[in-house]
Amino acid sequence: MTDSGAYQTLVYGDIETTPKEIVKYQEQINTDIATILDLPTGWNASKNHATYTVEETLKRAKELTTIKTRQDILWVGPVQGGQHLDLITHSAKEMGKLPFQIYALGSPTPVMEQYLFDTLVDMILTAKKSLPPDKPLHLFGAGHPFMFTLAVALGCDLFDSAAYALYAREDRYMTERGTLRLNELEYFPCACPVCTGNDPDKVKAMEKMERQEILAQHNLFVSFSELKRIKQAIIDGRLWEHLELRAHGHPALLQGVKKLHKYKAYLEKQSPITKKTGFLFFSSLGLIRPEVVRYRRRLFQRYSPPRNAEILVLLPQTRMKPFHKSREHRRALKEILRKIDAKIAKVHTCTYAAPFGIIPPELDEVYPLSQHEVTTPLDAETVTSVAREVTRYITKMNYKRIVLLQNPEMWKGKIATACRRACKRKKIPLNLYTRENFFIRLEPTRARSQKNHLKN
Ligand SMILES: [Zn+2]
Repeated sequence: MTDSGAYQTLVYGDIETTPKEIVKYQEQINTDIATILDLPTGWNASKNHATYTVEETLKRAKELTTIKTRQDILWVGPVQGGQHLDLITHSAKEMGKLPFQIYALGSPTPVMEQYLFDTLVDMILTAKKSLPPDKPLHLFGAGHPFMFTLAVALGCDLFDSAAYALYAREDRYMTERGTLRLNELEYFPCACPVCTGNDPDKVKAMEKMERQEILAQHNLFVSFSELKRIKQAIIDGRLWEHLELRAHGHPALLQGVKKLHKYKAYLEKQSPITKKTGFLFFSSLGLIRPEVVRYRRRLFQRYSPPRNAEILVLLPQTRMKPFHKSREHRRALKEILRKIDAKIAKVHTCTYAAPFGIIPPELDEVYPLSQHEVTTPLDAETVTSVAREVTRYITKMNYKRIVLLQNPEMWKGKIATACRRACKRKKIPLNLYTRENFFIRLEPTRARSQKNHLKN
């Protein structure tokens, strides 16, 4: 792939060449993927200047068909606009109408250099939303492995390859978690052939050219390793888990991932319905996950409780899944029915569970309601979010009475508060039981069965 050299105009000012020359040159050197001479917007460009760069780039993009002579080269259509999101939308929409095989987002280099990953998220997703979804997106200037996962999760497919060499020139050692400086290293935290055959002191003592080559080889090795890890994570259905792991490598990167909250509906729309693996929920960051967003939306759009259900019994999540088949739930339900003196036909027993909210028994074997693992104790944001879902469910559905089995250790009374609020609004009665009190009578049975379990 060849770049057009357009970025040099930002660094060195005007360059003495024409868009036509750049097209012809790339055809002559027989490149596989070529880029038109666009006009990069740059960072902190005024709205007027940014508009000019967008329009001029579009004009040059339209001219390509009259200049190019070969049909076997893939052409890249650059999207401009800088941090002006409305201009990115306009640029992406118009560029998307032109017959390019690949699109690219311009101007993110200064954003990445300043670690403004939340701004980068805005820029990439704004472009992505207006570009043809079936065409690859290249991210100009992105060559550091520590942000590849974020870029891939946002829908980028191609990266720049200059970074590994540029970093090596400045004695910078790339890792998948950030950059280290050669002179600060006592150990190479890497098992690539270059690092296993050398130690930092040996490399520090080398001549500049030799040192640069060693570092460049290592940098390239980490970049490829990370790309392979990402590809495997996609195959395994674990890209989000990999993203959370990388996000914790730097606060700015985590800030970028948190920004995805703003785009969670869009991300959900683009994500597969099922995966071959269950998912891992670590913290409230996982509330942005497409699986969670999708379940919560669809529950209210597509589900209605059984017609004869009058009493909603809410039980806390259990370690065993599906929840409604767990021993704890069967016992709790039996005890509750006895206490409230109700007929089973009128009772609808649901689970309140992190991160989803309310899970009816008819659904709790559907992916991913039984195919996930959750870290406990839950963080406050997750508790609040599930409590909000509980309020929403009771308010929306038409039960005549709510019975809640609390688990204060895990939910800190938040689910009870949510039920109280919803019942008051609906003017229906609420019965509260707490788990400790509730299970006192059941303790001996539980101990016996645990013993049996061990024997088996
Ligand atoms: Zn290495």
